[in-house]
Amino acid sequence: MTLLDTLKRPEYTGENRCLPCTVVNAIVVVAVSLALGLLWIPAGVAVLALGALAVYLRGYVVPGTPSFAPRLVAAVGLAGVFGDDEDEPRQSDSLDANVDPEVMLSTLLDAGVLVDEPDGLFVADEVREEWESTMATLRKGSDDELATAVETAVPFDAEATPEYDGIGLHGPDLSVWLSRTQAIADVATLYTVVERGVDPAVALAATEPLRMFSEVCPACGGPVVETTTRDCCGGTASIYDSPEQDVLACEECGSVVYEFDEE
Ligand SMILES: [Zn+2]
Repeated sequence: MTLLDTLKRPEYTGENRCLPCTVVNAIVVVAVSLALGLLWIPAGVAVLALGALAVYLRGYVVPGTPSFAPRLVAAVGLAGVFGDDEDEPRQSDSLDANVDPEVMLSTLLDAGVLVDEPDGLFVADEVREEWESTMATLRKGSDDELATAVETAVPFDAEATPEYDGIGLHGPDLSVWLSRTQAIADVATLYTVVERGVDPAVALAATEPLRMFSEVCPACGGPVVETTTRDCCGGTASIYDSPEQDVLACEECGSVVYEFDEE
């Protein structure tokens, strides 16, 4: 292993390089070296050279960059400059419904979707079985088939089409993009929950919270684990997320199944 290899941080460079982090750091390095250069030119030159090398090898020099640079870039309205890449992971929207969480919870308990046990809430075994087998069926289908399933399952008028490796859902009242992972989970939730007599609007509101109970990846069937969107904005997170955000994600394909609320 060479000295350069020791200095390199592959988690922040190469494919994982976070463009907003690199740009923000480059600006900081140039600004600091200019300021120093005014006092003593060799110092400015040295800082510029070392800073540039560090950003190249390590992804960033300013401590904590991955947690603030994407937000900073988004805040000044430049997110689109870095985020419009088709390969860039996109953040999935959630299917939202105007339903009181208390009402949703009691409805799901009454319908036997959830069970309240001394050590917490669980998805009833038979519901889980059906939920997971519906996800398995949807997973085998094409993007077009999934789009049709989304369109049929949602309790409102909207047109669904495959977009950016996921499903775009556009109707008179909303326009959302769902990752393939989330579309599979949410359609399976709608089918399984509505079948148990739950009002479709309540079932819609249940799509996001129920993903928190996923044990298998909707997209590939791999194991779902609790993790963080650590690999900066190139990994499983969108440009708007902090790398330390807690998520449930697939260990095999890396897709985000559920995002925990940020505190
Ligand atoms: Zn997966």
